[in-house]
Amino acid sequence: MSNPEDKPAELLCEASVAGGVEIMTPRDVPLGGPRAMRVRRTLPQRERSLIGAWCFIDHYGPDDVADTGGMVVPPHPHTGLQTVSWLFEGEVEHRDSAGHHAMVRPGEVNLMTAGRGISHSEVSPASTTRLHGAQLWVALPDSARHTDPGFAHHAPTAVHGDGYEARVFLGSLLGDTSPVETHTPLLGAELLLGAGATVVLDVDPTFELGVLVDTGLVEVEGVEAKPSDLAYVPPGRALLTLSAHDRPARLLLLGGPPFGESIIMWWNIVARTHEEVVAWRAEWQAQITHDGLVDGWFGVPIGDERPPIPAPPLPNARLRERR
Ligand code: MN
Repeated sequence: MSNPEDKPAELLCEASVAGGVEIMTPRDVPLGGPRAMRVRRTLPQRERSLIGAWCFIDHYGPDDVADTGGMVVPPHPHTGLQTVSWLFEGEVEHRDSAGHHAMVRPGEVNLMTAGRGISHSEVSPASTTRLHGAQLWVALPDSARHTDPGFAHHAPTAVHGDGYEARVFLGSLLGDTSPVETHTPLLGAELLLGAGATVVLDVDPTFELGVLVDTGLVEVEGVEAKPSDLAYVPPGRALLTLSAHDRPARLLLLGGPPFGESIIMWWNIVARTHEEVVAWRAEWQAQITHDGLVDGWFGVPIGDERPPIPAPPLPNARLRERR
C-alpha cells in the first residue's frame, strides 16, 4: 500500500518506552480514488512511532467493494522497509519490480522487502467483493536497509488451544515459528479468541508488543481495546494476558525489541536523513514520463501498465521533530 496523504510530513521516529498498557486510537485516512476506501491508522502517531521495528499499521474493512471500489494502488516506490500484508477477507494481487507476482490471501502472509528500492502495485481482483485486512510496515535496521529487494510468502498452520486459535506469521509464539526471515527480532501473529476466553501467552520480555484489535472487545492485561485500537505493552513481561468479552474476538499481536535507531519516514520511504528522502524522491520522479513508468532506481512492476503514483511535494519544513 502507498501512503495516500497529499502532503505527508517528514517524521522523526524514535523508540519510546513507557510504563503501562496504552491504548492508541486510530485516525481515518482515505486511500484515494473516487469512492475512497478508508484505512484506520494507529502507527505512526505523535506519541509513539515504533513498536519494535513495526513502523506503520493500517487496518481496513470489512468493506463492500461495490461501495468502495476495492483496493487500487498503482505502481509506487518503497525504500528501507518491508511491507507485511495480512488479510481477513478478500484477495489482493501484488506485482513488484523484483519480478514477483503473487496473490495476498486470508491467513497467508506476504512480506515484501524494499531494501535499497522496489516498486510495486496492489489491486483487489474482480472476484473480491469484500475486503478486510491490515497493511503493516517494518523498518529495516541500518545493517540491512540497503539490501536487495525480495519477497516471501508463508501460510501458517493454525495452532489450536483452549478458547483460541493462532496463526504465527513472523517470529515465534505458542510453540510455532515462522520460517520468514527478518532483520530484527519480530513477532507477528493472528489470534482468534472465543467468547469469554482468556489466553495467557509466553512472550519475550525484551519485546514491546502491540495488540491491534480487528473484531470484538479485547482486554489486554485488563485494559479494554476496541476494534481498530492498538494496545501498546512495554517490554518487561514474560506473560501476556488477553481476554475476549462476551463475543469472539480477532486480533493481531505484533512485537519486537525497541528498535534502537531513529528513522525518518516520509511518504513510502524510510530513511535516516532528509537528504536521502530528497534523493530517493528524485529517483522516483525521474522514472515518471509521458509514456508512463520507465526503468530506473526502483524498477518497474512486472505486468502492470497503470500510470504510477507521483511522489507528493516535499514538505516545507525540513523535519517535524517529535516531542
Ligand atoms: Mn506499497
